[in-house]
Amino acid sequence: MAECVFCHQTLAGVQDVQPTSVVVTLHAHPACYAEYQKTCPQCNQQLKTPFFSVLKLPGYVCDQCHMFFDTNMRPLAFLP
Ligand SMILES: [Zn+2]
Ligand SMILES: [Zn+2]
Repeated sequence: MAECVFCHQTLAGVQDVQPTSVVVTLHAHPACYAEYQKTCPQCNQQLKTPFFSVLKLPGYVCDQCHMFFDTNMRPLAFLP
């Protein structure tokens, strides 16, 4: 049984989503993947989930603005 990489719930049927920037195939709920593909409210760039969070908080990073957003899309910190 596959597990959703985002919410870690078991997937009833395996659904592959193929992000263009990532080579590996992810197993995820389409809704979870859509959630993952957040865009920056300031510059519309696709946000990235940081590999490590300096702030130890879940959130997203914009490469363009160097801003860290929390899961409610509030800008929390500037990352120089
Ligand atoms: Zn999921
Ligand atoms: Zn941005």
